[in-house]
Amino acid sequence: MIKTDVVIIGAGPVGLFAVHQLGIIGLKAEVIDNLDKIGGQCIELYPDKPIYDIPALPECTGESLTKNLLEQIKPFKTNFHLNQRVESISKEDNHWKITTNKKNVFLSPNVIIAAGVGSFEPRKLQIKDAEKFENNGIYYSIKEKNFFKNKKISIFGGGDSALDWAIELSKFADVTLVHRRNEFRGAPHSSETARNLQKKGKVKIKTPYQISSIEGKDKIEAIKIKSEDGKEESIPTDCILGFFGLIMKLGPILDWGLNLDKKTIPVNTDTFQTNKEGIFAIGDICSYPGKLKLILSGFHEGALAARACFKLARPNEKYRFEFTTTSKSMQERIGVKKSD
Ligand SMILES: Cc1cc2nc3c(=O)[nH]c(=O)nc-3n(C[C@H](O)[C@H](O)[C@H](O)COP(=O)(O)OP(=O)(O)OC[C@H]3O[C@@H](n4cnc5c(N)ncnc54)[C@H](O)[C@@H]3O)c2cc1C
Repeated sequence: MIKTDVVIIGAGPVGLFAVHQLGIIGLKAEVIDNLDKIGGQCIELYPDKPIYDIPALPECTGESLTKNLLEQIKPFKTNFHLNQRVESISKEDNHWKITTNKKNVFLSPNVIIAAGVGSFEPRKLQIKDAEKFENNGIYYSIKEKNFFKNKKISIFGGGDSALDWAIELSKFADVTLVHRRNEFRGAPHSSETARNLQKKGKVKIKTPYQISSIEGKDKIEAIKIKSEDGKEESIPTDCILGFFGLIMKLGPILDWGLNLDKKTIPVNTDTFQTNKEGIFAIGDICSYPGKLKLILSGFHEGALAARACFKLARPNEKYRFEFTTTSKSMQERIGVKKSD
């Protein structure tokens, strides 16, 4: 069991800046995210796209913003618990007990929900036996590429992930790339590389085809694919990789007894507290009159929620407003070196 001042659900830009706002007032946070990486939508959906409306940063990308936010919270040595989804939150005396799907348990007087549009989950194959073979022949992400060495792999999808992995895995595996349209949606350069590999016999490309069945009892032996005009083909296959994009699900958040308004959590704008004492919501997931789903709004929301967390984490201390420019204690927490 991990005890802390604040548990933050969501390592998107807003959750990351909340770590900073908590850190400078002396509160420790543990951050949990369902993804295998830090950065939320900025990293998962648009790492290379330019952002032009972060205050005092005329231009940055989703990736560089995340990198800078991580740099800014470095002094607080925050623990990130990735690849796990918060499943339940329940009250235990004066604390909240937060449990993840990996059965990790956290105890904290405060929870900040910075869960954006919910957890990102891969869109899955909708055919017979797809569930049975999931993680045992069917995969929707790659953790260790060497696992696929010398295997017969059928990759599905027409976007960047499908193309990039087809190109990468073709270096040491037998790859067939299957897409339901003739044109790929991914970067033109990647599409061209895949077509060139096809010409050299290093990748097989099947378009416009869709999977129609999986063959094999305990493990996958082959798949059948079908074209629009009904032509069917069998492809010997050890592993299927599906890259059909992500869906966002509020998921377990719906069951935590919080007031909800459509897919958002209404908050009081003095503190960003929800209808439950000690549970706050900031960033894209919260709603209030005038809410703007922008990163800069989430930063402000995190600053206010952090101050409200102080009251429950340090009930016997008085919170004092200070500036980072002049506060010695804040500067010590940030690790500013004293000059004589
Ligand atoms: C293409 C695109 C362009 C954009 N451009 C701009 C722009 O120019 N300027 C701007 O200000 N904004 C822009 N936005 C919006 C901006 O990205 C969001 O406002 C911002 O990401 C919200 O941050 P967040 O931290 O609230 O949530 P998110 O970034 O969505 O992060 C939430 C995190 O919570 C995790 N999570 C959810 N539920 C759970 C759970 N139960 N357990 C564990 N983890 C969970 C998710 O995995 C996710 O990583 C853009 C968005 C898109 C899609």
